[in-house]
Amino acid sequence: MHTANELRKIQVPHGKVTWQIDRNVNTTNVCIANCKFCNFFRRPGHEDSYITDIETYKQKIDRYTVLYSYRCSKLCSRHP
Ligand code: SF4
Repeated sequence: MHTANELRKIQVPHGKVTWQIDRNVNTTNVCIANCKFCNFFRRPGHEDSYITDIETYKQKIDRYTVLYSYRCSKLCSRHP
């Protein structure tokens, strides 16, 4: 973190600091890839699995665009 701060001072000498809010707005957590590092996905039929309908997805995105300057991402998810 110290190194990053020193590099920031060089690249942004006026001293203003900004940040970016990063949100993952996913349509589903259903996935069959089974990547070993991932604790996000659920197998098809799992009780915690979900699929977001398009209206709910739009509402999620709208909520973030109203409140924040943000970057919207989507995790991979390989829905069968
Ligand atoms: S959601 Fe992405 S990272 Fe997770 S198991 Fe599926 S493909 Fe892998």
